[in-house]
Amino acid sequence: MHEFSLAKATKQTILQIYQQNQNLKNITVLIGEIQQIDTKLFKDALLRELSDVDISLKFELLPAKLKCNICSFEFYYNQLNLSEEEKESIHFIPETIHIFVKCPNCNSNDFKIIEGRGIYVKV
Ligand SMILES: [Zn+2]
Repeated sequence: MHEFSLAKATKQTILQIYQQNQNLKNITVLIGEIQQIDTKLFKDALLRELSDVDISLKFELLPAKLKCNICSFEFYYNQLNLSEEEKESIHFIPETIHIFVKCPNCNSNDFKIIEGRGIYVKV
C-alpha cells in the first residue's frame, strides 16, 4: 500500500534528522492537501514505525498553493469553490484538478501546484 511505503520513507528522513540532533523531541510532519493518501492510515503507520524512537510527532495539513502559468497569479486550493465530488476526484486523481479548477484571475486551467503535494518534515 502507498501509505505504508510513504510512512517508511518518512521514517528514514526523520531518523536522519534525529541522528544529527538527538536532543530533538518534536518533529512536525506536513501532509500536502493534494496528496493521494489516506491520512489516518499514513499517521498510524508512521507512529507504529517510530514507536521505539523517543520523539513526539505533530501532524499538520499543508495547504495547496497553485500558480497560474499564464498570468503568474498565485492562489490557494482551499479558497476555491469546489463541490465535495470535485474535491474527492482531485484527491484520488490529482491530475483532474485541471478539469475542475481555473485561475481566478484569468480563467486559464494552465497552472501548476507549487506547494501542497507530498509529505514534508519540519523540525
Ligand atoms: Zn491566470
